[in-house]
This record gives sequence, C-alpha cells and structure tokens, in this order.
Amino acid sequence: MDFASMTFPLTVEISGDQYWIGEDGPYKLGMAATEFLASDGDGELREALSSFLRSFGGMLDPFVADGRASEEEVRSLQERTVGCAVGYGYYAVPGKIYLVERFTFTSLRDFLFVELGKAILNGNSPRQCRLCGRWFFHEKSDRTIYCDRVAPGETERTCREVGARAVFEKKIQDEEAWKIYKRAYKKYYARLMKGTMTQEEFKAWADEAAAERDKALGQLQRGNIGEVLTAEIFRELRERLNRK
Ligand SMILES: [Zn+2]
Repeated sequence: MDFASMTFPLTVEISGDQYWIGEDGPYKLGMAATEFLASDGDGELREALSSFLRSFGGMLDPFVADGRASEEEVRSLQERTVGCAVGYGYYAVPGKIYLVERFTFTSLRDFLFVELGKAILNGNSPRQCRLCGRWFFHEKSDRTIYCDRVAPGETERTCREVGARAVFEKKIQDEEAWKIYKRAYKKYYARLMKGTMTQEEFKAWADEAAAERDKALGQLQRGNIGEVLTAEIFRELRERLNRK
C-alpha cells in the first residue's frame, strides 16, 4: 500500500474482513496497519498503533503480547478515539456485488486506527516475528509466529523455515532427554523387582532422576545452545541417572 500517495478524505469500502480503496483491493483487514508498522513511516503513529494493539489485541493471545492497559494508556487511548463518517453502499466487481460499509476518513491516522480496530475485532492482527522482530500480517487462525522474510544471517532460508527447524530440533532433543530417563528408570525398576534395591532407595533415585530430567529439559529450553553444550547436557544427565 502506498501511504504517501493516499489523498484525504479517503473512501474505504469494507465488507466482512476485506475492503477496497477505490479500484484497489480487496485487502484484508489489518494489512494496512501491518504494512505501516513494518515501514519507516511516522514513528509516533507507529508507536500509537502498537500501543493500541497491545491494549486491545489481548484476546488474540498468544499471537500478540498480552497487555493490560495502564491507566496512562487508557487516558491516551481516550485521546485517540476516531471520528469518521460511515454509510452503507455496495461495491461491484465483475459478476459479484458486495454490501459494504463506506467509510470516509479525513486522515491517515484515522484510517489506520479503524483498519486496525476492525482487524482485531475480526481476529486478524499485525504480529512481530519471533525470530527477526519485524512486523508481518497474521490472519485469523493462522498459527505461525515467524515471518517469511529471509532470516537474519541467512541468504535464502526464511524465518518460517529456520523457526520450524528450531522447533523440530528442540522436539528431537526433548525426546532424547526422555529416552535417557526412561532407559535408566527401567534399569533401576528391574533392580527393585529383583530385590537388589529397596523401595526407599528406588524412590530416592526416582525423585532425583525426575529432577535431573526436568533440569536438563529446562537447559534445552533456552534454545540455540549449540551442539557441544547439548551433547554435554545429555552426557551429564546419563551420568547422574546411572551413578548408583
Ligand atoms: Zn522474521
């Protein structure tokens, strides 16, 4: 969207979760706010939009940071209420006609606030990529937390690809930690069954083993810790679970 060339008053025709601006569209609600947040346009307006999203996007959790508005934020939101004219009309495309709410905005600010507000109410929202931190458009029911731009430090792979890989590797690592724990558990349980370990000894071992396992899972949770450290975590877990 070319915000610089928009002229006001601006007529925007909204039907459901999509809209048209003159001949252009359909756009999805939330696209304009996302594009503006991702741009280097008016910093104050960008900050106001992201604060608005924090205040009202809570129900989209976990897609946006959960935010309870502070009193100050509530006060500043009151100053940001938007007035605009709305009428009903229709928008015709070849073979189809849509019932639309026809908004007339007198400023870019008013347009973006209403566009974002309606997006939130529809379940769409701008989202910040968990990997690179840049804004991308999140559509209702889309669960991704990564954008599809080229990831930092990569030449081709996108944040989505790198992120999915990281989640996958984390899962494999977790499974490995559980495998080490289960193998040791079987070994000591067999000793209990054979009577070479007492009930108390076994219980003491099991309590300690569960704590060691959770500690290892917690260390793996930090993510991006590298192969050497990961191998060290597994080595230590194996040793601690099997030393009696
Ligand atoms: Zn990204």
